[in-house]
Amino acid sequence: MDHIYRALPPQFTAHVQTAAQRGVLSHAIILTGQGDLTAGAKYIAMAMECEGAEPPCGACLPCRKTAGDIHPDVTFVRDEAHKNLSMDVIRALRADAFLLPNEGQRKVYIFPDCSLLEPKVQNLLLKVLEEGPSRAAFLFCAANSSVLLPTIRSRCILLHLEGEEAAAELSPQAEELLQLLARRDKTGVAVCLLRLEQSKLKREELQALTGQVRDALAHALTAYYRGQRPGLTALGPKRMMALCDVLGRTQRQLRSNLNVGQTCGGLSVELTALL
Ligand SMILES: [Zn+2]
Repeated sequence: MDHIYRALPPQFTAHVQTAAQRGVLSHAIILTGQGDLTAGAKYIAMAMECEGAEPPCGACLPCRKTAGDIHPDVTFVRDEAHKNLSMDVIRALRADAFLLPNEGQRKVYIFPDCSLLEPKVQNLLLKVLEEGPSRAAFLFCAANSSVLLPTIRSRCILLHLEGEEAAAELSPQAEELLQLLARRDKTGVAVCLLRLEQSKLKREELQALTGQVRDALAHALTAYYRGQRPGLTALGPKRMMALCDVLGRTQRQLRSNLNVGQTCGGLSVELTALL
């Protein structure tokens, strides 16, 4: 998957993943807050078009096409001829929304800058939101959601993309594992996980621990791409991503796998192989 999505706040991507995997991703979303809202909208579009088992997988063809801006059913609503979006663009969108998707599951319309939507245009858009087919989805990027009319806002869910959120609190065990990973201490990581296994850790506790370490790494990675340099960047972005993947996958597997010992063992093998 493209680096830009890795740099999205982990709380945001986790929220989108959970909603997508439960099949409850809203068809009308206002994306607000600081950070790269367009990248956030593309991430949601990927989740909507993904054909992988855990959307957005980032690996299937629809995910890759969306990431590369070449998915025929994911449209950035722009108006090259005018400063603000014209009524004609919305009328064309309305007609398009009623056509069947070309190849995807949904037709997704991304509005990269809602400050370009005048009230009369928003009123026209409201009709599409209300009457459009269920397979049409609308993603509004608005640093300040008040640029949208209350009638539009009331039909959308509001999703915050908080770019500057502090890293989550770490438990002492999660902090220890994180520090060992940061030092690339293979033996230390293996010993730490063995100790956790022998301490008869509960499944929920291991799930929380892997989640905390993953979030801390993802947060450090976000900072890395912003040009900041927190301590964990000694690991390098590729290794950080790979570690995030392993921890995220383990966390998900723990939802159904009851065997904590086996999971600790597997995690130990996978993590040390990456260091
Ligand atoms: Zn996918």
